[in-house]
Amino acid sequence: MKRYLPLGKFSLGMGDRFAHQGKAQLRACLLAAELGFDVVPVWNKSNREHNFIGTEPASLRAEADAAVKALGWKRPYHVDADHIRIDTVGRFIPSSDFFTIDVADSIGKPASEDEVRAFVERHPELSGKIIIPNLDHPLEISPAEVKCVARKYLRASREAGEIYRFIAAMKGAEHFITEISMDETDCPQTPQELLMILAALADEQIPLQTLAPKFTGRFNKGVDYVGDLRQFEREFSEDLAIIAFVINRYTLPPSLKLSVHSGSDKFSLYEPIRRALKRFGAGLHVKTAGTTWLEEVIGLAEAGGEGLEIARDIYAVALEHVVEFCAPYASVIDIDRAQLPDIATVRGWSSPQFVSALRHDPANPAYNPNFRQLLHVSFKVATKFGDRYLDALKRHEEIIARNVTENLFARHLKPLFRDLEAED
Ligand SMILES: [Zn+2]
Repeated sequence: MKRYLPLGKFSLGMGDRFAHQGKAQLRACLLAAELGFDVVPVWNKSNREHNFIGTEPASLRAEADAAVKALGWKRPYHVDADHIRIDTVGRFIPSSDFFTIDVADSIGKPASEDEVRAFVERHPELSGKIIIPNLDHPLEISPAEVKCVARKYLRASREAGEIYRFIAAMKGAEHFITEISMDETDCPQTPQELLMILAALADEQIPLQTLAPKFTGRFNKGVDYVGDLRQFEREFSEDLAIIAFVINRYTLPPSLKLSVHSGSDKFSLYEPIRRALKRFGAGLHVKTAGTTWLEEVIGLAEAGGEGLEIARDIYAVALEHVVEFCAPYASVIDIDRAQLPDIATVRGWSSPQFVSALRHDPANPAYNPNFRQLLHVSFKVATKFGDRYLDALKRHEEIIARNVTENLFARHLKPLFRDLEAED
């Protein structure tokens, strides 16, 4: 197997759009470590996001390094080039040591029949009855199904291999972690598809450590999961069984694990996920990008005065542009516009009223997931506010940092990872 930079068993992907909360985010991992569960911090930012905000990948590395230095963090940490492709990976090479290779667009682009035939011949073990430990039923895959899955995924696997080899040639294989993401696609992958996808990725000799499949149900931005919890838990457990199986079968890194994208705020999933991880002794990577930006707005609102004023102004612009801002996110938000408060109402809100509507506290009757989702996709407003916004972040650093840390630690890390065995 190719050399690789090993990734710890539990890791948290954190996004920080405006690059001011690195320390507050890292503090959440520090609190976890003090309680005895180790979670590796990974700062992630996609190419798309860099373009929206007008930042370069080197700025994320600088932020991570500065936070680590300031807090005296002695454990591993990483910087993730999130959702990159061959045409966008270039500028991430020097500063990232974690690469999320996004091949979703190539899923379904048919591979050549020669390649499909070669795959089927190379993998006779994939046809027939396959007994997977900890899976309550054997998989039954016909040769025709293997062909069908190969047609659908081989090209994406090949492309992942090309991008991986490009990064390895530039950086050296031992200097980075590879994730492959297939979450931004329409159909969830079944466990048997996952098995064949992993066989194909192993053929490409990618030392894959995290795989982000598309899971069943809705993973809307910044709000809880919508879907069948029992079905999710069953499929998630099946995926874990497949991962454990392929590590040995195809000599993939023992650190290979699932990655949950849009993983922030999926509170109702955390207990089922934790249960499944415990049962399998499995690791997990969870990406929570986006949730920190909302904590900034919450902190500003809580600060009152001009902070609250900025929070109200952001909402006012967001509401004016609701159609435009929501359009690119149609598949990952569900906003009931009738439930969005009008601007005059929000102008009259006190700090606690604004905070109650925005903070993700399902027990608070004033919490408004429609309001929250709209603000989630409206971060471009803060970009437009420029220094007015950034200066306010500095002036109200303490109150914002408290919200950022508390959100990641109490609402995400603790319910997901507490009491799990950190080492095998
Ligand atoms: Zn993703």
